[in-house]
Amino acid sequence: MADQDTLHRRGLMFILSSPSGAGKTTISRMLLEADDEICLSVSATTRPKRPGEIDGVHYHFVDDPEFDRMIEEDDFYEWAPVFGYRYGTPKGHIRAGLKEGQDFLFDIDWQGTQQLYQKDEQDVARVFILPPSLDELHRRLQNRGTDSKDVIDGRMERARAEISHWDGYDYVVVNDDVQVCFEKVRAILQAERMKRARQTGLIGFVRELMA
Ligand code: 5GP
Repeated sequence: MADQDTLHRRGLMFILSSPSGAGKTTISRMLLEADDEICLSVSATTRPKRPGEIDGVHYHFVDDPEFDRMIEEDDFYEWAPVFGYRYGTPKGHIRAGLKEGQDFLFDIDWQGTQQLYQKDEQDVARVFILPPSLDELHRRLQNRGTDSKDVIDGRMERARAEISHWDGYDYVVVNDDVQVCFEKVRAILQAERMKRARQTGLIGFVRELMA
C-alpha cells in the first residue's frame, strides 16, 4: 500500500540566495548532508579557484573560451556576470532528474533566480537568507580570510545590491543563528515537497483509497 513517502513526486529546484557571507554556503552544506533527496546543482564559473575548492564539486572551473563555447552550445539554464566573472547553471541532467523526483539545490544570485523562475516557475522554490546586520556581514567576510580588502569592499557593495532583491523570493530567513536558520530552511524544503501539484502520485493513491 502506498504511503506518503513512496508516492511519486516531481523534484524541485530549491534556490538559496544571499549576499556572500550571510551563511548560504554553510546552510547549503548542512542541507546536503542532512537530506539525501537533494543534490547540488554545480555551476560553471570563470572565477579562479579559492583554497579548498574542488573542481566538479564546488564549481566546474572553466576559462573564458570554454564558457563562451557553453553559451554557444546552449548548455546553460541561465548564466550571469558576478564580480567580473561569469557564473552559469549547466542544464545537464536537471530536467530529467526533476521528472524522476530528484531535488536540486541552487546556490545562485538574484539574476539567476529570476531567469530560472521565468523559465520554469512551477518547479522553483526561492529562499533568501539575510544577515542580521551589515556589520555582522562585514565581520563574517573578514573572518573567512580568503579575500583581499578590495574584494571584501566589493562584496559589501554588492551585498547591498543583492539585499535589495529580497522581494523576488518566496521565503526570507534571517541568519542570526546558523542552526536555527538551517532548521527553518529545512522546514521550507519539506513543505514545498508536499505541494499538491508536485505530488504526481496522488491521483492514483487517492483513487485506490476511495475504491
Ligand atoms: P562565489 O564566487 O562567492 O562562489 O559566488 C559569487 C556569487 O555568484 C554568489 O552570489 C552566487 O550565488 C553566485 N552564483 C554562483 N553560481 C551561480 C550560477 O550558476 N548562476 C548565477 N546567476 N549566479 C551564481
